[in-house]
Amino acid sequence: MLKTADSGGRPSGALGCWPVIAVLLVLWCAPTTALAQLSSVEDYPDVVDARVTTTPERARLIIDLDGPTQFAIVSLDQPDRIAVDVKAFDLKILAPADVAGKGIVSRFAIELAEKGRARTTLELSQPAQVQQAYFLEKVADQPARLVVDLIADTPERFAERVAADLAASLANQDLAPLASTDPGTHGPTLETRPLVVIDPGHGGVDNGATAPNGVHEKDITLRFATQLQQVLMATNRFDVALTREEDTYLTLNERVDLARENKADLFVSLHADTFQQPEIRGASVYTRDENATDVLDKVLADGENRYDIIAGFAVPQATPVVMDILVDLMRREMRKSSFLAAQAIVHQLEPSVTLRRFPVRQADFFVLQAPDVPSVLVELGFLSNAADIANLQKSDWRDRTVDALARGIAEYFDGLGTVAAAQ
Ligand SMILES: [Zn+2]
Repeated sequence: MLKTADSGGRPSGALGCWPVIAVLLVLWCAPTTALAQLSSVEDYPDVVDARVTTTPERARLIIDLDGPTQFAIVSLDQPDRIAVDVKAFDLKILAPADVAGKGIVSRFAIELAEKGRARTTLELSQPAQVQQAYFLEKVADQPARLVVDLIADTPERFAERVAADLAASLANQDLAPLASTDPGTHGPTLETRPLVVIDPGHGGVDNGATAPNGVHEKDITLRFATQLQQVLMATNRFDVALTREEDTYLTLNERVDLARENKADLFVSLHADTFQQPEIRGASVYTRDENATDVLDKVLADGENRYDIIAGFAVPQATPVVMDILVDLMRREMRKSSFLAAQAIVHQLEPSVTLRRFPVRQADFFVLQAPDVPSVLVELGFLSNAADIANLQKSDWRDRTVDALARGIAEYFDGLGTVAAAQ
């Protein structure tokens, strides 16, 4: 079975004449939570969709699956390709779309290369490398996703990777490669980089706040989040995932679960709420506190929590937690890390944008509840204040703010490095 998506007008199925080098599948990478569930082919998920968007500078492959999987990536030449293998039981794609846009990837195909393995082949119009690859667990209506981002690269480095991948596959072919699940051996594209999960507040039926001119908070947060992801990824220091990439609704629980299940190193929720006092303005960064610090904080926190009910979703029962001392210690550690992250972000925002008085704040925001992921909520500004509304819609203000947020996030991780080295 071969399914192709072809942006170049070539006949469907043309990719099948490429030489298939089956041994070039060696090292599976996977979120650790997925490993135990993939012991036999029957446990593998189905691939339900695959799509590629591209520009001359970057490209993104998204593979939708109905469950967790493991993946491996190889670079191939003649012609230049990057192949992404996932453990899969079957392909359930009726009609894969063409490559959207023109650029790095000229076309792509997905096929069941052998029992239990689906290969997506990205044909390159120029040498490219994998900038990041990450797996997102299923939440609500969004299926599990493997996201692979490519950026342009030099011909020399591409050739080096082709040779290295070939050597690695030859060295490993006697070693029962399907049992290998060590992501650390995959090479430069998957070295352990911190995973930052950015959460654009609201979405779908939940507009969030609305400015008098009709602008919705959900659209502002998505625009900032998308740009922040790009700026962070350009540093090559982080893997960066969004809780939503479109105008879709997610409960607060689902946002938190995405960060936790993917073992995020930092969770950043973006908002631009309103408040009844229109004179209040400026950016601020929140960490979680059981005791809200003032009336405004309490109202904001309650407002966020109410969105679950407004959207027609009951807030799920809190998970019964064994309140042992380890959990408590972990929570305390996360609070400390969250506070350090908030401080670093405010430190970098300070010279660039107007801040609220006491910009590092605590409130009982539900979305900050992960006991095991440092989490902050950034109020970019208030949609109840005229100056903030104007700023939030200006591209130069957005550029400045996003750059400062990215620097703050980097400063936080720099600080962790210093702490670790000092111990
Ligand atoms: Zn909000």
